[in-house]
Amino acid sequence: MPNPTLDPNLKSWVESANDPACDFPIQNLALGAFEAQHDGHSHGHLCVAIGDQLLDVSMLAEAGYFTEQERIDQALYAPYWTGFTQQPELMAGLRERLQEFLRADAPSGGQATRRLRTKALRPISETPMLPPVPIFNYTDFYASVHHATTVGAMFRPDNPLLPNYKHVPIGYHGRASSIVVSGTPIRRPAGQQSPPDADPKAGPSFGPCKLLDYELELGCLIGPGNDLGEPVAISEARRQIFGLCLLNDWSARDIQKWEYQPLGPFLAKNFASTISPLVVTADALEPFRRAVEPRPEGDPRPLPYLSDEEDQRSGAFDITLEVHLLTEEMEKRGMGPARLSRGNAKDLYWTFAQMIAHHTSNGCNLQPGDLLGSGTISGTSPDSRGCLLELTWDGAGPDGKPKPRRPVQLPTGETRTFLQDGDTVIFRAFCEREGCRRIGFGDCRGKIIPAKA
Ligand code: CA
Repeated sequence: MPNPTLDPNLKSWVESANDPACDFPIQNLALGAFEAQHDGHSHGHLCVAIGDQLLDVSMLAEAGYFTEQERIDQALYAPYWTGFTQQPELMAGLRERLQEFLRADAPSGGQATRRLRTKALRPISETPMLPPVPIFNYTDFYASVHHATTVGAMFRPDNPLLPNYKHVPIGYHGRASSIVVSGTPIRRPAGQQSPPDADPKAGPSFGPCKLLDYELELGCLIGPGNDLGEPVAISEARRQIFGLCLLNDWSARDIQKWEYQPLGPFLAKNFASTISPLVVTADALEPFRRAVEPRPEGDPRPLPYLSDEEDQRSGAFDITLEVHLLTEEMEKRGMGPARLSRGNAKDLYWTFAQMIAHHTSNGCNLQPGDLLGSGTISGTSPDSRGCLLELTWDGAGPDGKPKPRRPVQLPTGETRTFLQDGDTVIFRAFCEREGCRRIGFGDCRGKIIPAKA
């Protein structure tokens, strides 16, 4: 293990971090921010997750814990984690210094350290979070070939993938202003919907979305970024990955169906997108990189600006991703959420490095903290489909017309084809590998509240 901060034998004096099932062992150190009140004012504080707690890194900095590492100390006074997105080379030193504080074998020595150990911890479950960095730009890709194929087949059964798919990482510009952190309620959007199929002369209507869906995605937060007019070479693109989070790209399918041609997604997508607030850094993800799945026989080779040997060897991430649903009825009965699907990010057709190289290939500038969505992550099997649009799709009948959707069955006897008011959607994700400590992402959740009357 070249990076000593990933040593699987490291343990913390924060007992919950040593539970083998926990998302945030001492090897992870996922980064977050929260609002703290003091002197009658609210301040953004930086933190890292450890077990079921958050360690208040800003408090450690104020206590002088990082003063010997001047550059780290300075970066910790920047609002949010921006100082580290801009200078990724500081991350290794920060991780070492945080582990020195958190390790089980760290000397608890003086009274000041003992006091800090108690004062600087707060439970994750009771802390409202902020985004880890301000997100000014959001781009959403379409990198899962299995998702693109299943959705394409709904409209073009004989030719599901458009001719550009295997050459271009397809994407569109989303909206950053409506990105919210996990736990924020999601108001059902209203919008214009197409005339009913049975009565095309009736004209379009306006009202609450009837086909509300989630999309299971990974979000990639950008590190240093690039100057306008200066593309990022594919061989350099990896350095731009600051870390990953979970992303729910909520989608209004009925609004989408009517509005998306010819310019693409608009109001069906920009009413809200939820991120998990703790970013798992590129350092913590290093052991879970994988070779990219070889392209099937007959698929084109990517153009040279998207080809890189190192990226092919280790540009994929082995991350298991799950969708869970909790209805109000399940809450009432004291039940836990039900799992709807499970997929893996290693199945993506395009890597984040390829998305970054493509995004900047025309000179477009990425900025620190920009968010790139992977697109819905689906696998080959029906239980790995990352949205309800796919999960409830039952193919076409012998007449070539789509069969009625097959609703998801829930343990209460309830069914869902799309989301109802009161439903909570929860994404979870984790990485496991022999010889490594398991790490996870924490929850990315949102509860649907009724449309504005
Ligand atoms: Ca999406």
